[in-house]
Parts: sequence; C-alpha cells; structure tokens
Amino acid sequence: MITFNEASAEAVFTTLAKAWRKQQWIFKKESLPQNYAEPPKEDRAHANFLFFLALLQRGPAVSESATVWAKALFKSHPEMFDPDSISKLTLLELDGIFRGALASLQEKGEEKGTIEYRWDDFLLSWLTNASQLVKYWKSDAREIFKGVKDFEEAYKRINPNLKRNEAAIRGMRRKIVSLLFIWLQDRNLIPQAPSPIPLDFHALRILWACDIVVFNGYERLLEAGERERLKNLEGLPTVRVSEKMTDEIALWSQPFIQKIGARANELNPALWILSRTLCKLLPENRSKGVKGREGTIELKGFSPKKNPCAACPIHKHCKWAVPNGPHSRFGYLVRRPRTLHPQPALPGTEGY
Ligand code: SF4
Repeated sequence: MITFNEASAEAVFTTLAKAWRKQQWIFKKESLPQNYAEPPKEDRAHANFLFFLALLQRGPAVSESATVWAKALFKSHPEMFDPDSISKLTLLELDGIFRGALASLQEKGEEKGTIEYRWDDFLLSWLTNASQLVKYWKSDAREIFKGVKDFEEAYKRINPNLKRNEAAIRGMRRKIVSLLFIWLQDRNLIPQAPSPIPLDFHALRILWACDIVVFNGYERLLEAGERERLKNLEGLPTVRVSEKMTDEIALWSQPFIQKIGARANELNPALWILSRTLCKLLPENRSKGVKGREGTIELKGFSPKKNPCAACPIHKHCKWAVPNGPHSRFGYLVRRPRTLHPQPALPGTEGY
C-alpha cells in the first residue's frame, strides 16, 4: 500500500505552485512543448489539436520531439487534426501523410521531430480515436469534458478498462487524459475543474525524491541481472511502477491539492520543468558511470558552483536522486541519497 507524507507534499506543492503562478525562477510558460506549435484559432479545432497532441505523450514519449513532429504535420496537413477528415482515411493513407511530415523535418535536419519510436501504435490510435470522436463525441474533444464536476467524472466516460464502454478512447489512461484536461482548461476551452497531477516520470521523480510518496512493501533492492545498464545501480532501492500505483497516487493528489489551494495546471508544468531542467543536471541522476551505494560517486565535471540544487526552491525537502534511464528503459524507479551541498542559496532565490 502506498502512503503519503502530506506535510512535505504541502510544503513542496505550495512552493512550486506559487512560483509557477508568478512565472518566477526557471518557470516560463513558453518553455512547455505544447506551446511550441501555433494552434488553430477556432475553439473546436483547437481542442481537437490538443487531443491529438496529448495522444503522442503516451509511455516514455519525448514530448518536445513529438510536438515538433506534430507541428510539421499541422503545417502540411492541418486536416489531420480534424476527426471527420481523419476517419475517412485508411491506415495506409494516414501512414503516407505521417511519413511526409517526418520527411520534411529530416530534409531540414531536424533530428528532434519524430514519433518513430512508437510509429505503429500512434498511427493506429490516431485513426481509431478520430473515429471514436466522430461517433460518440460530436467530432469535438471538448464534449468528453462537458458538464463534469471533476476529472474522474470525465475519465469514466472514456476509460477503456470499463466494461461495455463503447465511447472509450484507446490508449489514453489517467496520465494522458489528465494532461489533456489541464491543457483545455489552460486555453479556456473548457471550464476549470479539479484534476489530479498527471503522473509522468518527472512528477514521480520529485514526489519520491522528496519522500512525498512512500511505496512501502513495493520497494525492493535492485537486482540488475543481465541488464548491463543497471549494473551500476545494483542494490539501490527500487520500485517497478505499475498503473495501479500511479492511479493510487493520482486519486490521492486531486483532493489533496484542492485542499491546500494549489492546482494541477500549476503543478504539472512546474514539476515537469524542474525535473527536465535542473534535476537532470545532477550527476547522481545519471545512471551511467556512477556507482551504487557500495561504491563512490564519480562527480565528473561537478563543482559546488555548478550544483543545480543550490538554486532549487524545494532543495530542503529533496533527499534522493532519481535517474531517468532505469525508468524509461525498464520501468524502474531507482533512487540513491542526494549529496547535500550546504552552500548558501544563489542571489535572488532566497526565501523560496
Ligand atoms: S534539489 Fe535538486 S534533485 Fe531535488 S528537486 Fe531540486 S533540483 Fe531536483
């Protein structure tokens, strides 16, 4: 059973939500991948554009890369974000159009813009869900959320795990639907309503690093076995994250953040940007070339002056380093104690 340290959660969430609201420190709305692309002007088209963009954020997706690709697709074929137009195509025709967008980026040497890592999966889910929107949701993604009191009510409408749910949207679980819910609210396309924190790796990293989430009996010591890339992490605390666990954390987060006056559309971007820009710079967050608990930590190219955590507003609560590699490759969260650096906060970051 998962338990929660609500005192730490309140301190961390209120600090991050406040900084996001004021767009302080490293928090800038323009840095978010979903803001890279100029969306359609008309509301229904805008909502559908975000719907398909959210579909690309599944699994260990690289958000920036998928968004760059979607932007190229939108430029050459804006109708590929319109459920009515998509649902008239065959899989082969859609594949040809998708490849055209990819080729246009490759010609320009834009290495980032790709969805090749899950090509067949994205292709099928694009077509299937366009047809579902046409059939059950008036070809308008906003209809899914119409009149709901909170996220859970909307999720029940499209959850494919529920029996006999003909209107289900395939491949969109809590993480993706809550992301879409937040994006639509942010653009004023649907009314504001309570939502959980979308639990991608970055949110999980900070929640576990700050001991906000306690995995109790789920936690083990890592056994690398034949997996070369995990050898350096042998013996460290690890959790194999399942959907059941992320659902449990999401269900806790919605009422909790509501109680403390924070919002998911503040915490989601704040946690994502913090993890993607600062936490990843921490040498202990690299799984290669760093020894496990028995060995010494090789702090190559690291000096206190370069310590990314010195400027972090939640560093007092953050006890652990959680590298990305084991999660994106093997589905494991792994952590090792974070080296504390007692130097004073950088000018301008005091009082966080
Ligand atoms: S203290 Fe460092 S590792 Fe922890 S959240 Fe802040 S930047 Fe990330």
